[in-house]
Amino acid sequence: MTAPAICLFRDDLRLADQPALAAASASGAPLLCLFVLDEETPGLRARGGASRWWLHHALTALSSDLARIGGRLDIVRGAQPGLVRALAKAAGAASVDWCRRYGAAEIAADRGMKADLAADGVNARSHNGALLFEPWEVSSKAGDPFKVFTPFWRTAMARPAPPAPLPPPRRLVAAPWPTGAPARVSLDELELLPTSPDWAAGFAAHWRPGEAGGRQRLSEFVAHDLARYADERDLPATGATSRLSPHLRFGSVGPRQAFHASRHRAASEPSLARAAAKFEAELGWREFCYHLLHQFPDLSTRNFQRKFDSMPWRNADPTALRTWQRGRTGYPIVDAGMRELWSTGTMHNRVRMIAASFLVKDMLVDWRVGEDWFWDTLLDADPANNPAGWQWVAGSGADAAPYFRIFNPTLQGEKFDPEGSYVRRFVPELARLPKAYVHRPAAAPAGVLAAAGVRLGVDYPAPMLDHHAARDRALEALKATQS
Ligand SMILES: Cc1cc2nc3c(=O)[nH]c(=O)nc-3n(C[C@H](O)[C@H](O)[C@H](O)COP(=O)(O)OP(=O)(O)OC[C@H]3O[C@@H](n4cnc5c(N)ncnc54)[C@H](O)[C@@H]3O)c2cc1C
Repeated sequence: MTAPAICLFRDDLRLADQPALAAASASGAPLLCLFVLDEETPGLRARGGASRWWLHHALTALSSDLARIGGRLDIVRGAQPGLVRALAKAAGAASVDWCRRYGAAEIAADRGMKADLAADGVNARSHNGALLFEPWEVSSKAGDPFKVFTPFWRTAMARPAPPAPLPPPRRLVAAPWPTGAPARVSLDELELLPTSPDWAAGFAAHWRPGEAGGRQRLSEFVAHDLARYADERDLPATGATSRLSPHLRFGSVGPRQAFHASRHRAASEPSLARAAAKFEAELGWREFCYHLLHQFPDLSTRNFQRKFDSMPWRNADPTALRTWQRGRTGYPIVDAGMRELWSTGTMHNRVRMIAASFLVKDMLVDWRVGEDWFWDTLLDADPANNPAGWQWVAGSGADAAPYFRIFNPTLQGEKFDPEGSYVRRFVPELARLPKAYVHRPAAAPAGVLAAAGVRLGVDYPAPMLDHHAARDRALEALKATQS
């Protein structure tokens, strides 16, 4: 009997443009498609609650997609390197293929796994399924990694374009689960879904996890929304962005697929060239975050700029933190963002910046506290994008917004949500306020509030702090980092 091949699925839960699956299935050998829920390997960050919800549904979709072409998804639970080695031994596998991950603990685990498999005579191969360019492929003329986005992306774009996406395999032959292999578990046994309470009940109305859902989202975006992307991507009310981030995070859409879909559309309609370049540059930000994570593995725990280590954060007040988490700060754009996160598992990029800035600068809370909350609550919680986003906002990151540039949440709201439609959607108690006051209810005359049915401090909170005083306090604290 032909020795089986093993394909290990991780952050690449799709069939098309999945180079590990393509390599494993190329020989025609019977295939073991494996997902390991690894909560044991030291150093791996525990998944957040929202990510677990997405993972459950993405694995459900992958399992039926594989079954449709003759394959089968097997799930085991435990430390991945040892389990994969044990399975390869029990199956007499000829090869194991996987797509690379870029966190330090993940790299260490995969390196060890590769060495062990090689020692057992198994052909262990890793592939790039998650990025347009490997983090080490883009470097300065001197051969150094980049710390600033613009030259990074310019250099990346001067390279040959990323290869065109691979087609999915047409047919697979599932190998039987070998005797003596680690025990399999069902998806339900992983207990990835929340139960009491089911806080994710509303997510399904907004998302379709899995490859078919990702493909549909990508094609709708390039067909309908790309045209307004460059002009409207900063306006949270318009829905002009791709909403592909959880798909990219879990690999139900690969970055090469997104990149080439955008290129292809712009080639057929040249007026879209500017919008397509902007979208590709946002994919470039994702690449840059991975480039940073690769050169700075502690991205989620340590300040990229060490001078921020002396920042006098005020982390002690759990009530204030809860006020921010629940979207009850009294600043409508911040509250709308935090409630969007709560009810849909995502938040528009512009509002992420505003809400994060409010926590870090107005409330003077360490960016790591906010990063943790996003890690737990975002469906797209990403090991590179999330800490890089927070460090960018805090001013401690590479290529960060200067610390002294402090967003005024009221003016940001008025600029990017000029009609107040986004606030009205997520903070319905303000829905009847006229647009002149929807971002500043505390400034509205009593008669205007009464006519809109808003009792400040009862229906909607008064501002939890005074932005101007908070700004001065933040600038004062910043001085502590300059010595
Ligand atoms: C504080 C903070 C935390 C963030 N945390 C995450 C996170 O955990 N996961 C995550 O995917 N993104 C994160 N981002 C980046 C960004 O907000 C989201 O990628 C974006 O809102 C996703 O919406 P979209 O798919 O419609 O984006 P689009 O505008 O359609 O962009 C397309 C894709 O490009 C990538 N992208 C876009 N903007 C950025 C960016 N600024 N940095 C890195 N990649 C980007 C994403 O993969 C996105 O799906 C964070 C930003 C901030 C300011």
